[in-house]
Amino acid sequence: MAGSDLFAFAESEAREESSQSAWKILSVEDDLAYQASLLFSLRDIKVQDRPLEVLTANSVSEAAMLLSHNADICVILLDVVMEEDDAGLRLANTIREVLGNAAIRIVLLTGQPGMAPRSEVMSRYDIDEYWNKSDLTRDTLFTIINANIRTWHYLNELIQARNGLQMVVDAARSISSKQNLSSFTQTVLDEIGHIIGVKQGGIVCVASSDACSLTETKIVAASGSYSHLNNESLDQLALDGLEQCFLSARQQRSHQFGDDYTVLYFEEPEFSCSHYLVLIHSQVKLSDSHINLLRVFSENISSGFTTVALVNRLSDLAYRDQALGSHNRNWLLRELAIMPTAEMRNSELVMVDVDNFSAILVTFGEHYCEALLAALFIQLTSYHPDFNSVARTNADSFTILFNKEHAPSAQHLWEMTNQRLVVEGTPHHLSLSVTRMDLGLMTATPPNQILQLAESALSIGRSRGEQVIDYRPEILETITSSYRMMKELQYALENNELFIVLQPKVQLDNLQVVGFEALLRWKKEGRFIPPDQFIPIAETSGLISAIDRTVVRQAIGAVQQLQQAGHNLPVAFNASCIDLRKPGYIDSLLQAIEESRIDTGLLEIEVTESEAMQDYDEISPLLEHLVKLGMGVSIDDFGTGYSSLAHVANLSATTLKIDKSFVSRLGQDLAGEHVVEMVIRLCERFHFKVVAEGVETEAQRQLLMSKRCHVGQGYLFSPPLPITEAIAWLQNWPPQG
Ligand code: C2E
Ligand code: CA
Ligand code: CA
Repeated sequence: MAGSDLFAFAESEAREESSQSAWKILSVEDDLAYQASLLFSLRDIKVQDRPLEVLTANSVSEAAMLLSHNADICVILLDVVMEEDDAGLRLANTIREVLGNAAIRIVLLTGQPGMAPRSEVMSRYDIDEYWNKSDLTRDTLFTIINANIRTWHYLNELIQARNGLQMVVDAARSISSKQNLSSFTQTVLDEIGHIIGVKQGGIVCVASSDACSLTETKIVAASGSYSHLNNESLDQLALDGLEQCFLSARQQRSHQFGDDYTVLYFEEPEFSCSHYLVLIHSQVKLSDSHINLLRVFSENISSGFTTVALVNRLSDLAYRDQALGSHNRNWLLRELAIMPTAEMRNSELVMVDVDNFSAILVTFGEHYCEALLAALFIQLTSYHPDFNSVARTNADSFTILFNKEHAPSAQHLWEMTNQRLVVEGTPHHLSLSVTRMDLGLMTATPPNQILQLAESALSIGRSRGEQVIDYRPEILETITSSYRMMKELQYALENNELFIVLQPKVQLDNLQVVGFEALLRWKKEGRFIPPDQFIPIAETSGLISAIDRTVVRQAIGAVQQLQQAGHNLPVAFNASCIDLRKPGYIDSLLQAIEESRIDTGLLEIEVTESEAMQDYDEISPLLEHLVKLGMGVSIDDFGTGYSSLAHVANLSATTLKIDKSFVSRLGQDLAGEHVVEMVIRLCERFHFKVVAEGVETEAQRQLLMSKRCHVGQGYLFSPPLPITEAIAWLQNWPPQG
């Protein structure tokens, strides 16, 4: 063939990739006879050993359709004059501006000599060739097609390279912490491959210092024919001459472009103080344009190495438990956040929590507890084929992600609750509570909430005495309403929406007021939420401390307001034992009293019997301390807590309050009456004062008096009232007649 030399590509530009896939050409022509002759001339043409595939269209609309479906058309032979005089130019406009195809080469053809489009039109649509049909010999056609395919190919590569570059820049920018050094460098290698069109592959290696030997230089990413070298050291690479290339790159701190190898040099002085060397094997010497492209590319990614180093460093700090070296809660949150839905559907979460951890901590100390948790952590990792999935999610709890195939059976979970560990040479038996959650149920739940729900399931399990509990969506209902209330309660607390009301305690015979009880109220959107509903939530969420502080402050305020109105009456406040046990509680209580300068005897604390008895050994000395300081101590709801008599005898209290459930049964059944009598006798025997709660009727008052109960509190006398109303109420009390 006459043109074969002309069309042959220079050896250096031959692409190894050149497969037999055809170059697509589009002929747009309304003269069917001419198109047929064109097709005939184009037959058998090969460019870079690849044949042509010629698509044909006979109108602008047909052509537009073909173009929109074939993004890989290289050259379009376009008849200028078809349906209209400028049909061809309108198509050119569509191609460039509507389809946004900048690479396709447009060759204009016309049958009428001297009708060449104006040069500004040619440049606007990036059309560089214009031919009279009559001048198109087969040879000319070869030349045109060949040159334009080459241009298209080059442009297309540039566009792809730019896209690749964009991808890497984006990748570098949005490097999530999961994208560690190896995935980053792997992306770098792949993108370089795309840009310069090499498939042989390459490696990225890292040296931690200038002085690193080849053995110390580690390969962190490898592709193509080098893939097997990943994670090896550089001396495993058959170097033959490359060694020099590497050395020069390091000594000169610059990229090296060899005949068939390129070594790119990067340094990251800030966080890892490392050098990165990227070797690319191209078999042939790279063209200047490719080298330039690589330089630009390198500039774009060099900051990526710093980002990766920084992210690695930060993620180690942010995602690892520094004491155990395990993953931490943040890590788990991130894992859950990036876990694809399909994987979630196939995963299970198991959360384990050490029972009575605070008691263990108090008994054995922090150092021992850390050792205990470390032993537990190791034990937990043994349950899982991939130890990586165990995270410490709280001081005393771990969470494990399981693929459903490997998830523990119910039996297994039971076994988990009972841990026999060896700590510092001594066996330690540890009891755990466990919850299991099917993550398939949680695909729409934010990670933070997933963990909170698992934690809530654990505490619900505990409150029901179940050591192993399966998370069920029904739990969510209970939890979410509590959760919502907790948030609202927090807001109420911060915005002073919680206030106390006072209910008088009166002497049953002469109705003299002997004091008040402060009861907390929360008015939310005009409606009162009963304390029985929000106090338990405050206790489990830790808001109780702040609430109890507010109550004490307001109770002190009430004492002062009463004094100002001329009433020197004690005000009792309710305290939760959770709070009482907190170190510093008593001190801050005393400090508040001291600052207000009221008499300690004008405050009284009420603690429920069940709480006081549950932690008797801890609570009793605290109460005793308060009694010694002259503060009244009431044991609330007495009779419901099944106190042991031995404890009652030694109880550090001044008053027992008979629970209202017994008072309401007075005169109705004997059992209630017996409890009331027994409590009154106990009080007489051990010198406690006694107060009956919930006195609603005159009959109850009479009965209580007949049983030698002297003080009562209840609706019969007054409901709990806001402070100013309580003071007004006092003015008219006792009622006349
Ligand atoms: P509690 O300390 O036993 O308070 C007595 C409860 O009985 C109060 O309910 C009171 O309004 C109600 N009551 C008063 N007189 C009568 C009556 O004649 N008949 C009947 N049926 N009930 C009467 P409230 O105010 O709803 O408080 C419920 C519980 O919430 C309290 O029981 C107390 O355990 C807790 N609580 C209230 N305020 C606080 C607080 O400031 N801090 C803490 N930690 N707990 C509080
Ligand atoms: Ca009370
Ligand atoms: Ca009570």
